[in-house]
Order: sequence, then C-alpha cells, then structure tokens
Amino acid sequence: MLIPSRRLFMLGASAASVAASMPAFAQTPAPGAAKPRMRLILLGTRGGPGISPRRHAPAQVIVIDDVPYLVDCGNGTAYQYVAAGLRLNQLRYIFVTHHHSDHVADYGNMMLLAWAAGLKTPIDSYGPPPLEKMTRLYFEMNAVDIDTRIDDEGRPDLRKLVHAHEITGDGGPVMQDERVKVTSARVPHPEIKDAFAYRFDGPDRSIVISGDTAPSYAVVALAKGADVLVHEVLHGERVRNTPPPTSNAATILKHVLAAHTSNEVVGEIAAKAGVKKLVLSHFVPDDPSITDEMWLAPIRKQFSGEIVLGKDLMEI
Ligand SMILES: [Zn+2]
Ligand SMILES: [Zn+2]
Repeated sequence: MLIPSRRLFMLGASAASVAASMPAFAQTPAPGAAKPRMRLILLGTRGGPGISPRRHAPAQVIVIDDVPYLVDCGNGTAYQYVAAGLRLNQLRYIFVTHHHSDHVADYGNMMLLAWAAGLKTPIDSYGPPPLEKMTRLYFEMNAVDIDTRIDDEGRPDLRKLVHAHEITGDGGPVMQDERVKVTSARVPHPEIKDAFAYRFDGPDRSIVISGDTAPSYAVVALAKGADVLVHEVLHGERVRNTPPPTSNAATILKHVLAAHTSNEVVGEIAAKAGVKKLVLSHFVPDDPSITDEMWLAPIRKQFSGEIVLGKDLMEI
C-alpha cells in the first residue's frame, strides 16, 4: 500500500533526514509544507504617465513575512495595494527608483492614506534626491489634514513617523534588516539625473527591480545570479514605427528610445545576468494589439530562462 507522502513526515524522523533518504522526485513540497516567506506582487505594469483601464502605473511590492517593501508608487498604487489584499496601515518601507511622475505620483499619498487607515508605526523611504525635500513639502501641503486629524482623532504625528533616506553616488548597500538585504545600482535613464535599480536578497529568493533604464551593465551586475529580474520593456519595433500623435512626437520618441530598454535587448540583459526568471513590466506602449508572442519572440532568441509577461496584481 502506498503511504501518502504527508504521512512520511509524521513518523518520527526529521523532515530533512526523510527527504534525504527519498528519491529526488519525492522531494516536492507536501501539502501543508511551509509557504514561501517572500511574495512578489506586481501592482502596476504600465509605463509612462498615461491612465489606462488595462494597466496601472508602475509599482510592485515584495512582502516578506507580512512586511511590505514597496518599490515605486505611481498614480493608483494605493488602490492597487488594497486590491492586492494588503493593509495600508501596515505600510513599512518605500523604495523609489526615480522621480518621473509615473513612479512617484502616489508617494506622499501612500503615506497619508496609510496614516488615515490607522498607521502608528514608522515608515522608512529610500530614493534619489530630493526625496527628503519632497517628503517635507508633501506634508507641508497636507498640513491642514494632518494637524486636524491629530487634534480631532488623536492620531500620532505622521511627520514624525516618516524617515526619508536619500541614495546618492553609484548606489550600493541601502538597508538591511532581519529579513532582507537591499542593494541599489545607479542606472542610465536620461534626462533624469538620478535613477536606481534595487536588489532584494531575502530568505527564499533574490529579486531585482530595474526601474526605468536604458540597456545597462549596471543592471547586469546588480542582477547577477538573481532568481527574479523585473525589468522594464518597450516594444522596439512598434515604438519606432508609430510615433506618438502629439506635436512633440519627435522629442518624445527620442527620449523613449534613449531612456528605455526594448524587447530586442532585454533578453540579452537577463542572459548576461544569468537570472532564473525574467518578469517584464512597465510596458510601452500599452497597446493590446501587441500580442504576447510579439513581445516574447525577440526575447526568447536571447534568453532561455522563464519569461513572465507581467500583469497587474500578478503574484510571482
Ligand atoms: Zn516610467
Ligand atoms: Zn522614467
């Protein structure tokens, strides 16, 4: 009679010794096995400041043991954060890649709404200058609400809960706690002066978020051997052939092609870094007539690992 694999773990021997004595195919986690400690949730996967019902502005959160490490917070991030089943009042860390509005429009709003939802604990935010000034001015702009709620509702002073930390130079170590070590790398995203990618080395996995970047060896170096690389992507052929219908189309096209990474090279970056899984996000353009296969075909020629076309609220 076959013994259910779960039963084997209840016979007295430690799980490790039982697993070691079993053939490889039997080491698949049994029902009820420990869940991974790190979750990666894509909150918004659209690139650029436009509004779309299909995709929200760029944001993703790594949740480790229920502690959220939010990376970027474009317009709508608070909404998506709640839609993902996360509790705003437990917001803890925010990492900003750069100060284009599609990545920071909800930076202050995330903190104010978290506080309105009952936040009583500190928030540490990290990002390029002028993050400290932006934080201070946001609170100044919302002083009426903050002061009124402190008086009327007995809330702690939000301004004293938030600590903004600026990242300069070429990046390097950002922070470390008992769950994760976070490292940054400066990436090229002209004409933005300061842009950073982040790497999270946690208990289960290493996850890298490229932010917005032109094809960059800095990303290759930061993502070396990582389990997951979340990389921005634009559809090279479509962008070159259909300039935006605006009077400043030529300028926008020049910026887009110089500052971002196309699906013609992102696979090479993932391959050079040797990552296990490439997750595409920050899609430009957000055009449903571009099929999955049209995004993937050039990437597959360069990268043989797993490729995920990111979608809002996808958990990886
Ligand atoms: Zn962007
Ligand atoms: Zn940008």
